[in-house]
Amino acid sequence: MNNEHNFNSTDPILYLMNDPGTPNLKKYVPVEDSQSPSYIIKGYSGGGHALNSKAGRAAQTAVVIGETLKWVNKHAPHTLPNWASGKPLKVDPEAGQDLNAYYYRQGLKFFYRGSVYTSMSSDVVAHELGHAVFDSYRPKSWDVADLEMWSFHEAFADISAILTVLQNEEIIQTLLSRKYLNRTNFISRIGEQIGKEIYKITKGKDGRTPEHLRNAATVFHYVNPSTLPNRSQHNRLSAEPHSFGRIMLSAFYQIFYNLYEYHVLRGVNQDHAIMIARNLLSKYLLGAIAIVPLKTNFFAAFAQSMLTVSVKTDHHKIMSRTFKKWNIINKASIKQIDIKSMAHTKNELEEVKLCNCMEMGTLCHNPLYEVDIEIPTDNKKRAVMSAKLCLDLLHRTNAVGQGYTTPFEIKNNKLVRTYI
Ligand SMILES: [Zn+2]
Repeated sequence: MNNEHNFNSTDPILYLMNDPGTPNLKKYVPVEDSQSPSYIIKGYSGGGHALNSKAGRAAQTAVVIGETLKWVNKHAPHTLPNWASGKPLKVDPEAGQDLNAYYYRQGLKFFYRGSVYTSMSSDVVAHELGHAVFDSYRPKSWDVADLEMWSFHEAFADISAILTVLQNEEIIQTLLSRKYLNRTNFISRIGEQIGKEIYKITKGKDGRTPEHLRNAATVFHYVNPSTLPNRSQHNRLSAEPHSFGRIMLSAFYQIFYNLYEYHVLRGVNQDHAIMIARNLLSKYLLGAIAIVPLKTNFFAAFAQSMLTVSVKTDHHKIMSRTFKKWNIINKASIKQIDIKSMAHTKNELEEVKLCNCMEMGTLCHNPLYEVDIEIPTDNKKRAVMSAKLCLDLLHRTNAVGQGYTTPFEIKNNKLVRTYI
């Protein structure tokens, strides 16, 4: 008899709310209908499975995808209309051996190594879906060669994971039972298990800790990315998207904490204050995504967009103070964005070859300088500088190849993204 028929698919699903690195944070949830837009999870057959089984992993993935989409559709000004591809998202919870996970336009792939399945981490699943959400709202940004846009993608994916995990009431209660919401905790840590696994391989030589992949409570202030190397120790900033994105991630986390503190100081219960802070940050983030212009200095543009959607509230001041402290915006750049004139304007982006934009005498030692790339049009000098950082990073890390073997490929002499 086939074992697959021995369960009742309507039995509840046991799911890890945070990450396999915090195994006690689990609970049973009922099997629910899929959320919208549609998705297909390979191997999913409802509940009733052991957590550490193929069907159990598919069920875990299904719960987190559903929770992340509920989070988006609850707080965004408009529900997510469709995926960037226009087709149902294909989700593979066991895509092959690797210590990785990614979003490509047709779906999400989660890989495994030994007993470490990336699809078992709510952080990792919500992070990858966060990429899909951003791409769905702003599909034109997909191929743009701009380091701050790339880095923002990572920061948004990480904060999506944090805010999705915080949808669980049990998580909030546990968080409050431990002190120091504004310091490192199991919510600020992203990808506990995969972080530990990478540490086992690197032995910490690259500056990593065994506790996480990234930590939203570790503060990094903004610096011009052209002043940074494209590789550095993990505990330092570099002009690499996962590293540089930590500036925006830590600013978001600080805003979450400040919104929480603001309400506690006004007599709101701590657990309720966490929910309010979570909901406000979600609303401003998802509101800003819809309007942010695709321009250079993307972090500043996004910060300004959040200030625009929160205008005339005390929260506006809280966010403005944080973005200023993080050097993401300065006094001169704090002006309200004229939404009508700005978002989705024509000619936000243009196609260029970097070798044609460089100053005379610059050595075009990177073959990618000869390829068509997309850059923002608002500030040519800045756009070229940022694109150069991107192309140098791609060249140095051999990240441009054929099809899904690398995150980028060249099609018709144009640089296009394959996955993120
Ligand atoms: Zn990512």
